[in-house]
Amino acid sequence: MIKIKNLHKSYKMGKNSLHVLKGLDLEIQEGELVAIMGSSGSGKSTLLNIIGMLDNHDHGTYELDKVIIEKMDETKAAKYRNKFLGFVFQSFNLINYKNALENVILPLYYQGLTKKMREEKALKYLDDVGLKQWASHLPNELSGGQKQRVAIARAMVSEPKVLLADEPTGALDSNTSKEVMNLIQKINGAGKTILVVTHEHDISQMCSRVVKLKDGVIVEDKKINQKKAL
Ligand code: ADP
Ligand code: MG
Repeated sequence: MIKIKNLHKSYKMGKNSLHVLKGLDLEIQEGELVAIMGSSGSGKSTLLNIIGMLDNHDHGTYELDKVIIEKMDETKAAKYRNKFLGFVFQSFNLINYKNALENVILPLYYQGLTKKMREEKALKYLDDVGLKQWASHLPNELSGGQKQRVAIARAMVSEPKVLLADEPTGALDSNTSKEVMNLIQKINGAGKTILVVTHEHDISQMCSRVVKLKDGVIVEDKKINQKKAL
C-alpha cells in the first residue's frame, strides 16, 4: 500500500536547513496497523505529513497504492488526499461552530452526493463510532474521547485507503486512550491500513507492527503480538 525509498526531507530556515529525514525506507502492506515511534523531534510528524500529502519530500520515492506521489499542484493533491487518506490529529481539529454531524459531513462536499445522501452517510459513520445520539452536539459539549471519535468518523467517511493518526491519544487519559485505540483496532480489523504516531509504549503495543525512527532513519521495525485495547 505504501512504498517509501530513500526519503529525504529538510526544512529550510533562512540560511540554515534542518535535515530531518535522511534516506528513510519503509514499506507498509494493506491491512497493517503500524505504530510509528521515536523521541520528540525525531521526524514522526514530518514522515506522516509526507505520507499524508500535507507536505512534499525532497528526494527519494513515495508510492501510495501504486501511484507515485511527486510534487503536484494543491488542487490535485487535495483530490488525492480526499480519495486516499484520512487524518486524525492529537488536537482533534474539529470545527467548533459545527456540530458533530456537520463535522463528519465536511469531507463529503467534494463527492457529488445529494444533501440527503451526505447526511445519511455521515450519520452512519457517527453511528459506527457510537455517537449517533450526539449528532447535534457541538464539539465543546463533547468529551475528549468523543471529540476524537467524531474526528475518526470524519476521517473515515470518505472511505480512505489509509488512515493516518498523529498522536491520536496524546490529549486523552489512559482509559479514554484505550477506547480510542479499541475503535482504531476495530477499523483495522475491518481491513483498513492504519498508521499511528505515538510516543507511548502502551499504545504502540496495541498495533501489529512497531517502527522506530531515530536520526532520520528507521532503526527498528518489528511485527508484534497485538494487545487488545479493551
Ligand atoms: P516529531 O513529530 O517526531 O516530534 P517533527 O517531525 O514534528 O518531529 O519534527 C522534526 C524536526 O523538524 C524538529 O526538530 C522540528 O522542530 C522540525 N520541524 C518540524 N516542522 C518544521 C517546519 N515546518 N519548519 C521547520 N522545522 C520544522
Ligand atoms: Mg509530532
